[in-house]
Amino acid sequence: MPKILLLEDDSQVAQLLRIALEQKGHTVCWTASGEEALQHLAGADLLALDLGLPDVDGVEFLSRVREIRPRLPVLVLTAKDDESTKVYCLEIGADDYMTKPFSVLEFTARVQALLRRAYGAPKIRVGPLVLDGEGHRATLDGKPLKLSRTEFALLRTLASAPGRVWSRSELLEEVWGADFDGTDRVVDVYINMLRKKLGDDPRNPHFIETMVGVGYRLLDLKRENPTVF
Ligand code: CA
Repeated sequence: MPKILLLEDDSQVAQLLRIALEQKGHTVCWTASGEEALQHLAGADLLALDLGLPDVDGVEFLSRVREIRPRLPVLVLTAKDDESTKVYCLEIGADDYMTKPFSVLEFTARVQALLRRAYGAPKIRVGPLVLDGEGHRATLDGKPLKLSRTEFALLRTLASAPGRVWSRSELLEEVWGADFDGTDRVVDVYINMLRKKLGDDPRNPHFIETMVGVGYRLLDLKRENPTVF
């Protein structure tokens, strides 16, 4: 799970961003202090940096980060919408830049994009299931699963946060995109196809569980079925 270091002194904003990142399966280390953030820098996979901080100058802080972690993906957040600050931040090593106010959805999308750019799509392992992000390959107990592109994307979304319940509309947005204008029954159809390929019984699921009136989740196989595998 990628570790996101979030340096943001507005606790309400930080809380929103933290929840959104955790829903994507990230681990979040939040601090409002530049000095404290420096101590967590070594273990971070990405830094989301608010430039307006009480204890340090955000731009100077970014320069220090670049000396310690030259290749760490950095997403700068700022209330200033002035072109020179933006250009300067990019020049001294920010990988991307967002001006407040911004949507939480856009924030997580940019974080995901930066992580993919820096590390490639990660391999996901959940119990006997392994999903290889680069080649769109999936195996179950080491045997290849023949999945269509959409089936793979749906399984990968569920597997990105085992145990998390996804509503149909969230799955639609993640897999089919925000522009999709069909019915959310398409999610049920694809879930059924995935279940067949996984050999899963919806009445006694080992993989995909229906949460009645809510949506679906992939069982956290290590935790919930420790004796099965
Ligand atoms: Ca601030």
